[in-house]
Amino acid sequence: MIQFTSDQKPLTFLLDQVDNRDLALPDFQRSFVWDPGATRELVASIVRSFPAGTLLLMQGGAQVFAPRAVEEAPALNGQPSFLILDGQQRMTSLYQAFSGTGTHRYFLNLQELIDGFDVDDAQPAGAAGSQIVGDYALPVSRDLLNVPLLRRPHHDYPAWDLAVPIGTPVYATHRGTVIAVTDDERCGRGLVIAGLDGGRYTYCHADAVTVARGQVVAAGSQIMRSGNTGRSTGPHLHLQIHSPAGSLVCPQDLMESWYAGRAAGPSTAPTTGCTS
Ligand SMILES: [Zn+2]
Repeated sequence: MIQFTSDQKPLTFLLDQVDNRDLALPDFQRSFVWDPGATRELVASIVRSFPAGTLLLMQGGAQVFAPRAVEEAPALNGQPSFLILDGQQRMTSLYQAFSGTGTHRYFLNLQELIDGFDVDDAQPAGAAGSQIVGDYALPVSRDLLNVPLLRRPHHDYPAWDLAVPIGTPVYATHRGTVIAVTDDERCGRGLVIAGLDGGRYTYCHADAVTVARGQVVAAGSQIMRSGNTGRSTGPHLHLQIHSPAGSLVCPQDLMESWYAGRAAGPSTAPTTGCTS
């Protein structure tokens, strides 16, 4: 006889069951296919205390279907009590995110939550967006960058240009306050962020600035969509960084550090060697 019951289980209980090889998949389930952005959104919604959703589990299912372990969970060594008939992608993504297995890692910046940021700002964009290193982040998705692009010299003064299609999300490279949103002939639509490190970060040629003057932004949070406004000969992002002492430094050196996973700030960055 088949009976259906519904009850609420804490996520930790279910994750433990996966770990203890008591909750598994029937072998006909397809492979885990979620992209990291979907996992990130799910983790953020759980952090806000929303339920993880519903699962359809079959008790004793391993007597009917051949079982296999959730991907990245310990290999089965007996018959699991439950098989996941529906909700497999969600459960696998949560298992991998909370157990630190799988190909991506997810982080919450607790300091930013303590400082009153919303979860959206405190979730480093990770694989779905910018790469975060301490209080610093790459200005565009890591996928759009490589070392030669990061090292490209600027035409006549220390700054950095990156050709990107109009509409590319641009992220704050450092935590700070938006002190100006500009729209002028030279920079076009752009903004200036006064960094917590005392540096000043200027972004130009946006299609649209997505933050307001006075707003506090976290490293890696989106601040604009790139464009081709102002004095620009093609769609690109222009970034320039002033040190706390007020001199233009080479963004190239800083970004190469962040790209390599090392935090570095403008007070120690070189001021020459990045112009052509
Ligand atoms: Zn430029």
